[in-house]
Order: sequence, then structure tokens, then C-alpha cells
Amino acid sequence: MRIPLIAGNWKMYKDIDEAVELATSLKNVLKDAQSDKVEVAVCPPYIDLQAVGAVIKGSNIVLGAQNMYAAQEGAFTGEISPLMLRSVGCHYVIIGHSERRQYFCETNETINAKVKMALEYGLFPILCVGEKLDEREKGITNDIVKDHVVGGLKGIPKEKMASIVIAYEPVWAIGTGKTATPDQAQAVHKFIRETIASLYDAATAQSVRIQYGGSVKPDNAKTLMNMPDIDGALVGGAALKADSFEAIVKFYR
Ligand code: PEP
Repeated sequence: MRIPLIAGNWKMYKDIDEAVELATSLKNVLKDAQSDKVEVAVCPPYIDLQAVGAVIKGSNIVLGAQNMYAAQEGAFTGEISPLMLRSVGCHYVIIGHSERRQYFCETNETINAKVKMALEYGLFPILCVGEKLDEREKGITNDIVKDHVVGGLKGIPKEKMASIVIAYEPVWAIGTGKTATPDQAQAVHKFIRETIASLYDAATAQSVRIQYGGSVKPDNAKTLMNMPDIDGALVGGAALKADSFEAIVKFYR
């Protein structure tokens, strides 16, 4: 059984005081989140990781990062390694977010290198895939998503797939207030699962969690999460306030 993962991507929001305040509130309001129904993660900016990690230690919230560099250490000014993320208590790392692809020139190749390095150092990658609006309008959504999935997973052995989460995030739905309908999202999630089955096998595809991301809010979370191939959400804007994130995490109520 796939337990949905609801992960908050705090992006470049929250200084340390604000991050500690939000993490403290989340720790309190999510105390009673049912672990057989949902897993919860928060992914603050790098500088907040240590402080947020200290707040959520011992709670049912796990720590994730928003990015990493694909090397253990070295002369890479401004970058953070998977080993560093591990040392600060990260479990997950978001890789290949569309904002990284768009503004920081990340390609399938660099993303694939990061996925491999994350796995090598014991992190659980959340690999983001998804089409832009013009690509959807051209009818090439599946081609783009397949390219991201195949490219991101290149050379990843089947045994490692249990450590990977895929996040389907249609770029046109991120931060725009436009959500894919549950049917639109389900169709792409099913396609991603079929793609994984063709790369590996049906059992592997059935076991991989595929999150949806793109303007998930308290009022649409439940219908999205009720779709058969949607296994949680990667949440941006609505993860920045404890009450809205709580409502999404407790979609099962
Ligand atoms: C995201 O940042 O991955 C995201 C889905 O953002 P939002 O929920 O704000 O659309």
C-alpha cells in the first residue's frame, strides 16, 4: 500500500525566525495526523534546515531540502552536497523542480546526476516532472513527461526505485491558482506509472509514489488525493501557513 506523501516546498520564503515559528505550529497541529493515512515532510530553504530540523525532531514531520549539488564535496562555491543535507537531518530532497529547470538551466542530465548522487548518499529524491502550458496546448504532455521521467531515472536500478518519489507538477498550475482537474492529473499519473512499468516492471510501478503538485489547496486536496494514482502532494503556497497545510495533510478526514 502506498502511503501518500504531503510535502511542503517553502521555496525562498521564511527567514530563520519565521521558519521556526511555522515548524513549531505544524508540529503542534499535525500531532494527530494519522501515520497510516499520510506521511508529512517540509522542505525549507537551506539556511533554515538545521533550526527546523531541531523543532521537528521526534515529531511525525520529516525534513527535506529543495535542491542539492551532485558532488560529495569540492570547489563548488555556493552549492550544498548530499552529505551536508544528510548531516543536517534531511531525508528527502526535491530534484528538478520546474523553477530549477526554468531559472537555473537544469536539464535531464544534471537532474539525473543529482538523483543518482542523492541515492548514493542515502537521501530520498522527489523527482519533479511536468509540462508547460504551450506543451499541453500542443498535445505533447505525455511526450514531455515521459522525457522527464526517462531522463531523470536513467541508469537507476530497480532496487533503488523504492527510495524515489515522483512529483507530477504541470508548470502551468504552479503558483498560478490553476489546478489540473482530478481527471487531468489522474491521466498523467497513470501514464507515469505505465512509463515506470515499461522501464522496470508492473510491481515496481505499483509501489512508486507519484505526488501531484500545482496549486493544491485545502479545498481541492481531497478530490485530487482520492484519484487512484495520486499519492500525495507537493505543496508550495499553501504550505506557508500552518492552517492551510494542516487541512491538506488531513485530506482524509
Ligand atoms: C511547488 O512549488 O512545487 C508548487 C506546487 O507550488 P504551488 O502549490 O504554490 O502551486
